Amino acid sequence: MRTAGWDRPVADELLSSYLVRVAIAQGTSAHRLCARYAPGISVWTRDIDRCAPERLIRVVADQAQVSVDRIEGMCLSGWRELAPRTHPMAAITPWISAVGTYHRLRRRYGLHYCPACLEQDGAFLRGWRLSFVTACPMHELQLRDRCGSCGEPVAPHRQGVMTRCWHCQGDLCAGSRPLEKVGLGQRWLSSCLSQQLSSRSAPSEIWLGLKQLLEAFAGRPSRRFADAGPRIRIELGDVQTQRADMRLLDGLIAQWPRNLWRAADRQGLNQLAFSSPLPPWLDAAVRKLPAGHPRGKRATPSARLKAVRRAEATLSPGWRTERAEFLLDQVPQRHGH
Ligand SMILES: [Zn+2]
Ligand SMILES: [Zn+2]
Repeated sequence: MRTAGWDRPVADELLSSYLVRVAIAQGTSAHRLCARYAPGISVWTRDIDRCAPERLIRVVADQAQVSVDRIEGMCLSGWRELAPRTHPMAAITPWISAVGTYHRLRRRYGLHYCPACLEQDGAFLRGWRLSFVTACPMHELQLRDRCGSCGEPVAPHRQGVMTRCWHCQGDLCAGSRPLEKVGLGQRWLSSCLSQQLSSRSAPSEIWLGLKQLLEAFAGRPSRRFADAGPRIRIELGDVQTQRADMRLLDGLIAQWPRNLWRAADRQGLNQLAFSSPLPPWLDAAVRKLPAGHPRGKRATPSARLKAVRRAEATLSPGWRTERAEFLLDQVPQRHGH
């Protein structure tokens, strides 16, 4: 028989959210609940949604009277298969936002939420930990990542009410709700998740390729906007930064691959900006960009001149940059007097 308070999890609920709801139903804190049912397991000083101890999963499955698979499915670990080269204990998993665990505090804004969904279900969902999910597909609202009153990151395990800020008790669902349509990047990456679950085909090629594409552009300050500093990895950003990165990605993948070539040309990006190996669909587009010259491995001037002329004649992507770089290199270097 199921123990009182251990009701069924909400669809797509995070394991951490479920434990907090059980604690609230039993009139206790998340900390005391876990000390009682899972003694000796540190639960709230780690990111259990990313990496839950097996013993904890078994305890929860037992109490809730559901299968171990169902509880495992409430964590993000299944999605890690989309990034097979990532070590299970790596600090950052591609596309999964970091919450910045520091003891029982959360220092980063890696848990987003839709105010309408949270108000309706009183639960935090798995999709809200994904760095590319910035809009709620159901309500077409902008996701939030903090308390609107005090600005603290949401930390359900410290909350006594699912919709109230742990720090100032402010209503997390209050305030205006700006609309946001689901962008192209969010759609592509979300479909990778559903494909992975249904067919086990190779959605990881899109999953990792879009990450490499974003990093090539977002990882460097724009030449056009001289004051823009280098950006941090999307998984470490807050929802506003992630939204900006996703709009950048949306722009690159629309009218593929022409927009990529245009943007690379504008920013002076060549093949060296991309980490390798690239999946075939991305590699085919990137190969059309200028090769770039690793330090000390430049071609001879006459070979470069021929290549520049060829690029100019065929108007291949990046020909302007290639020509400008070649011309600049011909200017004699002045060494300090
Ligand atoms: Zn919603
Ligand atoms: Zn607050």
